[in-house]
Amino acid sequence: MINPLFKKIIEIFDSFPEIGPRQAWRLFFWFIKQDKKFQNKFLNFFQILISQLNFCEKCFFPTIEDKLCNICSDNKRNFSQLCIVARETDLITIENLKKYKGLYFVLGGLILPFENKEIIKERLKKIEERLANDNKIKEVIISLPFTREAELTKKIVEKIISKFNLKVRKLKKGIPTGGEIEFIDPETLEEALGL
Ligand SMILES: [Zn+2]
Repeated sequence: MINPLFKKIIEIFDSFPEIGPRQAWRLFFWFIKQDKKFQNKFLNFFQILISQLNFCEKCFFPTIEDKLCNICSDNKRNFSQLCIVARETDLITIENLKKYKGLYFVLGGLILPFENKEIIKERLKKIEERLANDNKIKEVIISLPFTREAELTKKIVEKIISKFNLKVRKLKKGIPTGGEIEFIDPETLEEALGL
């Protein structure tokens, strides 16, 4: 008989993206074998994260306490460029190139049957508001994945942008079809972004 608490923890791990029941058990056993110092650090960091987590008012990247993230509040960034990405991990991938100096907007996913569409629909409204109110933005870079799943979201985003008089840049082909932003090698991505 498995302890009910263990079961509840396994259920949490099992609900993580791309984690199945077997991996959930492995994570659990790995965690319980770590020393107390590590386990407490893990707990503390997550408590801080949960109690202070915010989403940037401008780009919707997660932030702690502040209304704006480190990128949106950085005056050295180029406020005339806005790069629209589907997922937070796409922003990290582009940021890691250390070449792009503009700002971002995170959609939070794609319009897909298994994604939380409400968040994305809300963000699509926010992007329209942002473009309508932020007159510093002159150029929009659509950095959505080159996947069939992304087509619908891309069309909606393009339609929204077309309402404004903005320069629009799309990722150039060169990114293999079926390519998620986060799995593209840096050189190809830099080229695609025109950096
Ligand atoms: Zn931000």
